[in-house]
Amino acid sequence: MLILSGKEVSKKIKEELKKEIDSYLAQGLRKPGLTVILVGNDPASQIYVRRKRETAENIGINSICVTLPQNTTEEELVETIKRFNEDENIDGILVQLPLPSHINTHRIIETIRPDKDVDGFHPENVGRLATGIGRGIIPCTPLGIWLMLKHYDIDVFGKDVVVVGASNIVGKPMSLVFLKDERATVTVCHKNTKDLSFHTKKADILVVAVGKPNLITADMVKEGVVVIDVGINRLESGKIVGDVDFENVKEKSYAITPVPGGVGPMTVVSLLVNTLHLYRLRHGFPPHPFAQI
Ligand code: NAD
Repeated sequence: MLILSGKEVSKKIKEELKKEIDSYLAQGLRKPGLTVILVGNDPASQIYVRRKRETAENIGINSICVTLPQNTTEEELVETIKRFNEDENIDGILVQLPLPSHINTHRIIETIRPDKDVDGFHPENVGRLATGIGRGIIPCTPLGIWLMLKHYDIDVFGKDVVVVGASNIVGKPMSLVFLKDERATVTVCHKNTKDLSFHTKKADILVVAVGKPNLITADMVKEGVVVIDVGINRLESGKIVGDVDFENVKEKSYAITPVPGGVGPMTVVSLLVNTLHLYRLRHGFPPHPFAQI
């Protein structure tokens, strides 16, 4: 059984990205620029933002973190985004979700210029991913999972892939990545799925992105499955676990991601990949190979 170590894979990718940035700086080009905007003081969001920013800085990305108070108005946030939309030194803009409930998240997503939409949530980028028309931005978690599967030579062609969870952030774009070029046969399950284990048992590759500890147990998967656990859940004990009963499911798996140390680090590194991708396009360079699926 193979443990898919996002920690290891992301480390290798970061080293490559750092070398690439060093080479741009040696040519006299500016640093890639990333703006991360956080509204409010949600502790989990603060941790994610800090991690993203530190990792970006470590490889040579100029990262600006804007922290706005919880009572920031929608207009104020829109104006902040517009300022960075026009900033020549900024390649990527990320607004940390979830936003406070008085702010219309859809409007905020649509305010970010599609060519600076480093998270790939703008409908223009989602549309490009869905149709294959033009060059879009792949959302970070699905891109990270794709890069990890590639790293471990796990072929998806002709496979039965089951994605549990259908959010705009993970489940839906993940299913589109597998569906691209009609590679895999994709089933998407969600909270209204009648018989979850009927579907999960068919999976050659199972991606779970729900946010419920132990949702997937060993009796729900077949022998030889590849399991990608996206879930992040904090138990009362403080322990972080995924959505999959790791200890028992791993016995039946060909490969499985741990939590933590699996998908999480791949998501962060994909943010760096997408930032560099947008930087390259801004400078008239070819798209970043890691940002292509
Ligand atoms: P979400 O709440 O937006 O979506 C959850 C999805 O799960 C929905 O589609 C819902 O229908 C489905 N669902 C709920 N109960 C279900 C059930 N019993 N059976 C089947 N489907 C069910 O969540 P999200 O933003 O997609 O995140 C999902 C999980 O992944 C969370 O734990 C989140 O913290 C984690 N996450 C991790 C990373 C990472 O980098 N590791 C990135 C993003 C999200």
